[in-house]
Amino acid sequence: MERTLILVKVDGVQRRLVGKILSRFEAKGLKIAGLKFRQFAREVIEEHYGEHRDKPFFPNVVGFMTSGPVCAIVLEGPEAVSVCRKLIGQTQSREADPGTIRGDLGISRQFNLVHGSDSTESAEREIALWFQEDELVDYTLCDEQWLDD
Ligand code: ADP
Ligand code: MG
Repeated sequence: MERTLILVKVDGVQRRLVGKILSRFEAKGLKIAGLKFRQFAREVIEEHYGEHRDKPFFPNVVGFMTSGPVCAIVLEGPEAVSVCRKLIGQTQSREADPGTIRGDLGISRQFNLVHGSDSTESAEREIALWFQEDELVDYTLCDEQWLDD
């Protein structure tokens, strides 16, 4: 079983898409292990996007992601990291395939609604950044036996 970090970004919250985005992951069969909603500190956002620190778009992304509340979610499931990246679609929403979250709901590169960890290593780092260990919940859903082989 794998865990991944999902963020419904500020634009997703502003566009009232938290429920719609979360329901896509739930419908796929992923399980919510953690969930929080608030405006996060600049330090958290800067650390989260640390790999992009030297890129020209870094200040814009940090500015945008600190401008309002964000919904942070830990999802759990078989190959959760890659499954979620596929559901999310390409960074540039205009090029993201129809059927993906960005492909169906977005048309921007920067304001692309949702973040998903890009590897199991990133997921581990990002989950530790956004959640305390005791904020993650271990439980069983009644249909789990039908969702993995
Ligand atoms: P992804 O979120 O698909 O993993 P990246 O890790 O490459 O994409 O970039 C992180 C975030 O920074 C993107 O989701 C997007 O919000 C923003 N971003 C990426 N590239 C650009 C760009 N060239 N101009 C503006 N914003 C960008
Ligand atoms: Mg990324």
